[in-house]
Amino acid sequence: MKVAVIGAGIAGLTFSQLCQQRGHDVTIFEKSRGRGGRLAAKRLDWGTIDIGAQYFTAYDLRFKEQLATWLQEGAAERWDFTPFVTTDEGVSPSPDNTERYVGTAQMNSIAHSLSTGLNIQVSTEIKALHRTSENNQWRLQDKHDQFLDESFDAVIVSAPAEQSAKLLTGTALKTRIPQQIDEPCWTLALATRGKVNADIQGVFGDNTVAWLSRLSARPQRAASPEYDDLWMLHFSADWSRDKDKHSEDAMVQIGINWLNSKLQQHTHSPLELVHHYRHYWRYARLKSNYEQPKILLDKSSNIAAIGDWLVGGRVEGAYLSALDLAEQWFD
Ligand code: FAD
Ligand code: NAD
Repeated sequence: MKVAVIGAGIAGLTFSQLCQQRGHDVTIFEKSRGRGGRLAAKRLDWGTIDIGAQYFTAYDLRFKEQLATWLQEGAAERWDFTPFVTTDEGVSPSPDNTERYVGTAQMNSIAHSLSTGLNIQVSTEIKALHRTSENNQWRLQDKHDQFLDESFDAVIVSAPAEQSAKLLTGTALKTRIPQQIDEPCWTLALATRGKVNADIQGVFGDNTVAWLSRLSARPQRAASPEYDDLWMLHFSADWSRDKDKHSEDAMVQIGINWLNSKLQQHTHSPLELVHHYRHYWRYARLKSNYEQPKILLDKSSNIAAIGDWLVGGRVEGAYLSALDLAEQWFD
């Protein structure tokens, strides 16, 4: 089969590998310039920042096998730290036995590893899918309303749920996609000067900042002579819902104030801000209470959807959604 996969995140890349291994001719269409989707790294002149997922966990044996390959290749490493949680006074340790991993040297290194040998057309946003009645082929229309030259026997959509629903308009799958399940996230990176207790590497936060990473403490992250630490703040979904509520300056002020108030017992003096960078994710995480479809496949027209939203909304879920579809379709 000639197969088109929309999206080069973990789900799209994984499915494409499985499909290609079975002898199919796969082309991935990705709207952004890179691979990895929400496993994203931003290269700035003062550092490279993981602006999407911060770490991943592995529970399913099939994903553990993939993790073992990444570890062997050097594409991932364990991030071994004791999590903290926020309290009224600041932060306190909240030890657990969870094994957490990061891509090395960036989170998207694991996506790069999965990309080996794949045909990926980047900077190509697909706007609509059309089924031709005369030869049962799929034609793809891009965002400039141009039809791509090639036609395909099968299409797999791996975008977040709301975006997938738009692309799958007019197909049998559309009505099976859960609605309004995507939540937004404002992310803010802060480079600071000032010493902080080395134990504080990851903090489960509060209603303002839901998660804090110390990016500079993670495996293989380069140090900088300009600053002592690089932090990543993930604002809560509620806080992030209104994208334009806070100007950039106001958000940076809220971020550095939050950091200083939470870390004050672990620093000698307030941290000094050196650089900042922010990124908005419209489709970042998933609401917790919706029915996951698990498999979305219409074999009669060779169309399917995959992605983290089918299997729990994490890096591991994205991977497993691709495996589940491949098992259902090919085995
Ligand atoms: P995506 O990575 O979103 O891939 C979909 C791809 O499709 C994207 O590259 C997109 O550009 C492309 N695309 C979409 N529409 C089109 C179109 N029309 N045409 C062409 N291409 C298109 N998970 C964890 O396990 N641990 C974490 O710590 C964690 N933290 C997170 C923090 C943030 C801020 C965010 C945003 C996510 C986080 N996640 C975390 C979730 C994790 O990143 C996702 O579960 C996982 O990466 C999703 O992979 P995916 O392949 O399903 O989708
Ligand atoms: P995980 O087990 O580390 O975290 C799952 C959740 O359990 C955490 O969000 C936290 O609420 C809680 N938790 C875990 N360990 C804890 C501890 N020691 N003390 C207190 N609370 C603890 O990892 P996972 O299940 O792989 O989840 C992935 C992570 O990705 C989660 O933290 C999730 O919030 C995050 N995520 C963030 C976004 C975003 O947009 N910011 C999107 C998707 C996922």
